[in-house]
Order: sequence, then C-alpha cells, then structure tokens
Amino acid sequence: MVCRHYQELDAFVQEAKKKTGEGKVADYIPALAESGQDSLSVTIYHAENTCLTAGDADRTFTLQSISKVLSLALVLMDYGKEKVFSCVGQEPTGDPFNSMIKLETVNPGKPLNPMINAGALVVTSLIKGHSPKDRLNYLLGFIRRLANNQEITYCRHVAESEFSSSMINRAMCYYMKQYGIFKGDVEEVMDLYTKQCAIKMSSLDLAKIGCVFALDGKHPETGEQVIKKDVARICKTFMVTCGMYNASGEFAIKVGIPAKSGVSGGIMGISPYNFGIGIFGPALDEKGNSIAGVKLLEIMSEKYRLSYFLKHFLS
Ligand code: GLN
Repeated sequence: MVCRHYQELDAFVQEAKKKTGEGKVADYIPALAESGQDSLSVTIYHAENTCLTAGDADRTFTLQSISKVLSLALVLMDYGKEKVFSCVGQEPTGDPFNSMIKLETVNPGKPLNPMINAGALVVTSLIKGHSPKDRLNYLLGFIRRLANNQEITYCRHVAESEFSSSMINRAMCYYMKQYGIFKGDVEEVMDLYTKQCAIKMSSLDLAKIGCVFALDGKHPETGEQVIKKDVARICKTFMVTCGMYNASGEFAIKVGIPAKSGVSGGIMGISPYNFGIGIFGPALDEKGNSIAGVKLLEIMSEKYRLSYFLKHFLS
C-alpha cells in the first residue's frame, strides 16, 4: 500500500514540530534514548483503504504502552468482561503510568485500570498459551492480523533493555501476587510484557490498527471481525478515560478522540469519521506523551472537527 503524501497534513506537522524542543526522549528504558529528538510523522488510514501521510513516515518504532490496549482486547475476547474486571478496575488514576501508590491505598493489590503499568501487567499475565513462546506467538499473531502485516515482530534490543532495567514493574507484580490478583510467574510475565512493549511497526501499521477500532473491530482490508464489537467499544472507552495517562482529561477537552500513547513517542488515534491515525514523535512531555504528537492532534481536531463531543457528531 502506497500512502499519498498530503501537503495540508505536512503543514500541520511542520507547525507541531516546533514543540519538539520542549520535550525529552524517554531514557529510563536505555534503548529508547537512541531515537531522534526532533522527528515527527503521521499516517491516516481510512476505511475505504486510502491512506495519507506526512513527515518521515517510513520509520518504525516500538509500541510501548500502545500495546496495552491490544493485549486488553485479546484477553477480553478470551475471558470475557467479568473475569478480566475481577483482576483489573475501570477507573482513571490521575497518577503517572508507573505509579504504584494506589495499589496500596485503593482496593489493595487490584490495579485501577488496564492502561497503567500495574493493570497491563495483570492483563499480560492472562494471555493464553502452553509456554512463554506460545503466548508471545499468540499475541504477535493477533497484532499481525490487526495490522494485516505478517512481518511485524518485536525489537530484541529494546525488549532486553527494558527487561534488565524494569525493577518497578517487577515490584508491582510481586505486590499484586501477594494479594492473589497476579497469578503468573513474575520473570516469565516480565519477559512477555517487555517483548509486547517492544513490538515494532510503522505509523501506517498503527493507523491501520486505529482504523480497525474506528470500524468497531472490523478490518478495513480483510473484512474480518478481528475484535468483537463490544470489546472494541470497551477499549475505545478506556482510551478516552485513561489512554493518555494522567493527561487524559485535558486531552479529551483539547482533542476529544480515543487515543493511546506510548513512551516511544507513538500515538494511535481513532477518528469518528472511520479513520485511524498513527503518529510517531519521540520527544515527550512531562506526563510521557509525545509533545509534538499531541500538538498535531490538537491542530487536526480543530481543523477537521474530530472531537466525539461535538453536537454535529451526535446528530
Ligand atoms: N514499557 C513501558 C513501561 O512499562 C511502557 C510505558 C509507557 O509506554 N508508558 O514502562
């Protein structure tokens, strides 16, 4: 699929790019620090299989927290809402994505939602398979179907970098294990979680996955119902309430679409007009969201009236 370069979008990218200097590339996962500070690119994938792009869109990047919404979709389909929500809650935290404070103060041991690290670790521990290899292949197979791209795999370098530096995530697993919420083997789940976060793709792949969500789980190219309708709805709702970490409220006001970000600088957005948006801009703001990526979405939302909360969209 060849994406058309779109001049108007390019102008928005140039405008948003001015923000990159105010941000900082994540370095708590050492391998992520190797990304260039000032890059920004976007791809839009529409249900009619048309595609627009701007910026350096050929680059690939790791999903990091964007993967949380994909693993959630998979386990919700496998286990159903009741089981999944008995292990993880449905409320935003107002705290940073890697905070563990509410694990102790609210419903001890049960994470508040699946978009924070504690919740995502529980979700990953539920992924089905007879062996660690099986579980990884099962997740990868699902993500390849979402993007309709069999080439997608994880970046070993980034996965190993996070695996060897992820002590807070390990601590949260053990904490939740004490309360019987987390049942897996901590090292095995950490291995799968870090590989999951290191799954690598282009902004085109990401936009296409966004489009699957925009179409309530149906794939624009294959026509396959890859995600059950009800599960797609739940995932989109989590993206609105918790997808941009503890900036989700402000983002809902400024942009108003379901979106999920990752500390690599990726953002997946879902437009009400049947298209998905894939963004990559590694410089992050203080909450861990792509600083220029958020600015770009603000510009696009205003220009194209993308907010789900506009009356015209409801009528
Ligand atoms: N792999 C990252 C972590 O667990 C994902 C966090 C993120 O993208 N916010 O810290």
